[in-house]
Amino acid sequence: MVSRIIPVDPFDLVVFGGTGDLARRKILPALFRRFCAGQMERGTRIIGAARTEMDDVAYRAFIAEALIEFNEGKGGCEPGKIKEFQKILSYVTLDARGELGWSELSEKMHPGRVRAFYFSVGPSLFGDLALRLHQYGMADSDTRIVVEKPFGRDLETARALNKSLADHFDESQIYRIDHYLGKETVQNLMAIRFGNMLFEPLWNSQYVDHIQITVAETVGVGGRGDYYDRSGAMRDMVQNHLMQLLCLIAMEPPSHFDPDAVRDEKLKVIRALGEVDPKDIVRGQYLADDEKPGYLEHVENPRSLTESFIALKLDVVNWRWSGTPFYLRTGKRLKSRTSEIAVVFKETPHNIFDDDNDRHRNILTIRLQPNEGIDLDVTIKEPGPGGMRLVDVPLDMTFSEALGPEGEDIPDAYERLIMDVVRGNQTLFMRGDEVEAAWAWTDPLIAAWEKGATKPIPYDSGSSGPEEALALMHRDGRKWRDLRI
Ligand code: NAP
Repeated sequence: MVSRIIPVDPFDLVVFGGTGDLARRKILPALFRRFCAGQMERGTRIIGAARTEMDDVAYRAFIAEALIEFNEGKGGCEPGKIKEFQKILSYVTLDARGELGWSELSEKMHPGRVRAFYFSVGPSLFGDLALRLHQYGMADSDTRIVVEKPFGRDLETARALNKSLADHFDESQIYRIDHYLGKETVQNLMAIRFGNMLFEPLWNSQYVDHIQITVAETVGVGGRGDYYDRSGAMRDMVQNHLMQLLCLIAMEPPSHFDPDAVRDEKLKVIRALGEVDPKDIVRGQYLADDEKPGYLEHVENPRSLTESFIALKLDVVNWRWSGTPFYLRTGKRLKSRTSEIAVVFKETPHNIFDDDNDRHRNILTIRLQPNEGIDLDVTIKEPGPGGMRLVDVPLDMTFSEALGPEGEDIPDAYERLIMDVVRGNQTLFMRGDEVEAAWAWTDPLIAAWEKGATKPIPYDSGSSGPEEALALMHRDGRKWRDLRI
């Protein structure tokens, strides 16, 4: 009931970086689940490629271990399925920066079928991979390439990456992945907005007081300290994931649900972002607690000025949204792992009821995690005698409950996105100009705090972030939603 399984024609998928963390934790388990779901026709092949010397047998064993560790019992995969899946796996020892392995890889390719190359390697190798795919005759019109974040660290590097791909591939062949866009709820956001009459008339500054987007994590920077310290929450989360969520909330209805129509509208949102007042940005760094080190110890850089938390207020300056602020916050080592978008409607203009509360407001909450689903807070009468006392209660649509027993198996974002690549559907992938526009907006903000050498504010691990982030909302007479545990 949740998803009709439509098998796709046999395809070849090459995972560059097939021995890496992302391949083991996300890409191969996602492919395995699609395999178990019956979506891959006989003849489909998945080829891992990296420098580590390995043969097919060793690679199959290596991936089987990863599947046992990371499949999380999802997707109805019985134990015997791993053996079947192993048959479609093979491996090529290959160096992106040299000639090793490329002839072998090109000989393996079947002509005339869809072939996808997943660049699950650092961005410094994107240009090399694109060039060699071209040189070894694998960059024809049946080819698609998938690239991971980070897509640059500023406008200049993003442009250079775009160019290194565009030298050999058409934009219609490039799939820039943002796994947030593959989440069921995020797509449901579009279904809710554009498939119902109910919300769209209210979706503007006349009825919406403000919008909050929160992506809170309980983990710290862990083993990624070195990368993270050169990046920070703005580059790592806001420029891509939060920006994409903002676009889907704020965009105009596209004329069709087709990739370029949707991405044109998202781009207009990014281009409509107003200047941000520095006082509307709060940056923080988490402190140590009894058990775990703080940010500075984690990244082994006592003088680091990089933020592990950011909250900011911004405006989308157009007819629909002028006067409705958007508040974004994201951070590490916070109180709970919560990702949600809350559309907070204005209060009723006048309260006819003689209850204690002043006036009432509706809140539409789109939960990405935990418990993907959507809530609409509505005001009702409290049951029982004793007059008209009003309470706000959520109308809850948790997908796993609403969609029946199968609903518990909502496909993971990577499952959906990889199959979209195979089908050639770019709607949920970022276009090059979107990425550049997002960097063009982000760059001056980062440059301003880097120029001023502004130090992030320390905050307690397990808290909701620095007090100043709360004050950012209080100044406007508003408050952040609780990070529910
Ligand atoms: P990783 O664990 O360091 O893996 C890197 C992979 O690249 C390895 O398989 C490595 O294998 C291969 N590689 C390195 N140099 C190579 C070369 N010259 N030629 C061919 N292969 C080469 O990194 P990762 O965590 O999987 O991340 C991969 C990419 O995804 C990065 O851009 C990362 O930022 C992005 N990403 C990762 C995650 C995540 O959760 N891990 C999430 C989002 C985005 P050999 O050493 O055997 O060559």
